[in-house]
Amino acid sequence: MGDGRADPRRRMPRTDALLAEPRLAAAAASFGRDRVKAAVRQAQDQARRGQIDPDQVRDAALAALPSAAPRAVLNATGVLLHTNLGRAALSEAAVAAVVAAAGHTDVELDLGTGRRARRGRDALDALAAAVPQAQAVHVVNNGAAALVLAATALAADAEIVVSRGELVEIGDGFRLPDLLTSTGARLREVGTTNRSTLADYAAAIGPRTGFVLKVHPSNFQVTGFTSSVPVRQLAGLGVPVVVDIGSGLLAPDPLLPDEPDAASTLRAGAHLVTASGDKLLGGPQAGLLLGAAELVERLRRHPLARAVRVDKLTLAALAATLGDPVTPTWSALHADAAALRARTERLRDGLVADGCKAEVVPAVAVVGGGGAPGVELDSWALSLPERYAAALRTGDPPVLGRVVRGRTLLDLRCVPEHADARVRAAVLAVPGDD
Ligand SMILES: *Cc1c(COP(=O)(O)O)cnc(C)c1O
Repeated sequence: MGDGRADPRRRMPRTDALLAEPRLAAAAASFGRDRVKAAVRQAQDQARRGQIDPDQVRDAALAALPSAAPRAVLNATGVLLHTNLGRAALSEAAVAAVVAAAGHTDVELDLGTGRRARRGRDALDALAAAVPQAQAVHVVNNGAAALVLAATALAADAEIVVSRGELVEIGDGFRLPDLLTSTGARLREVGTTNRSTLADYAAAIGPRTGFVLKVHPSNFQVTGFTSSVPVRQLAGLGVPVVVDIGSGLLAPDPLLPDEPDAASTLRAGAHLVTASGDKLLGGPQAGLLLGAAELVERLRRHPLARAVRVDKLTLAALAATLGDPVTPTWSALHADAAALRARTERLRDGLVADGCKAEVVPAVAVVGGGGAPGVELDSWALSLPERYAAALRTGDPPVLGRVVRGRTLLDLRCVPEHADARVRAAVLAVPGDD
């Protein structure tokens, strides 16, 4: 005793010093100084009562304030790419690349010569290397921006020939036809909802045609009396063929036989392919453009390209993702059901030992987020009473499950294994009455 450390008051950080601390200062800018001051006072009181260490006052004050940033959550929904949960989780390599790029970087500078260099060349080179069928590549802000750039640069004041079966709504009320016509391009619709033929396209093509567009129906299925025209046949029509493959698979995946990939689509004769970066590729939000050098160059030089330019953090994450394609999304897709079952049973055994009535049940996981709509992945889930769903969602960390027939199911397929202990703690933190 008497060494100063024993008396919390002697080590209590001063209020004005805390308010000047960068994260609390940022919080004051967001929520007002009075609110932050109150959180600081409350944390200091906790320290005076010995409930926390004086060194923890700053963090306790921060924790008591609403977050100024999106919160990290654990995705136990069994939906691999959940748009409301930010779609793909970045790999550790991509996260490290983002952190490294957050300061000043050589994103647009050649350190060897000291001259300006092609922006994001690491990511572009990695994309070109991953899809050798593409003569050239470009990256923009997201899949929708890739389409808007293609429509603007290749079909403003011209017609985009597209099947009526492919005029899709992406989500949140945004519809592809509206997106395309917002550029000044006109749509020349062909075929019907369920059937389009090569003759339909051929009859619509003329001097006003900018390009033929093929859109992968990535969030719905039409079954029954249907037909659509494969890229290989469209490529023979004598006009550019742009294919929106949606999910960003670069090469075929045997688990997803109906999901188009960039390499096969280009090999079939597409002149330009557009895709998202944060779906099955498992990278950051981005729009990928791959194809004929002349078309990609026209897009790259168009004034709109500057408005949909991708930022340095995205480029860093994309380069790292392409460098190691075993992303969390890939791992979740390819996870072995028996191994998932064993993992879920271990979690259950621990919970049951602590008095929680949890069970393990078979479950079905899906790709979600606009990809592989018909694919069901055999999975397993921890089953809990329904009331757990809301408690877990509002807990810390928030754990997102799904409610099926009056039970809350937690599917570990998209939860990193190292986070199992946090799922366990979150479940045990829910007050029990059953
Ligand atoms: C997801 C998707 C889009 C939109 O891409 P974003 O990256 O979300 O902008 C467009 N077309 C298809 C076919 C898609 O699946």
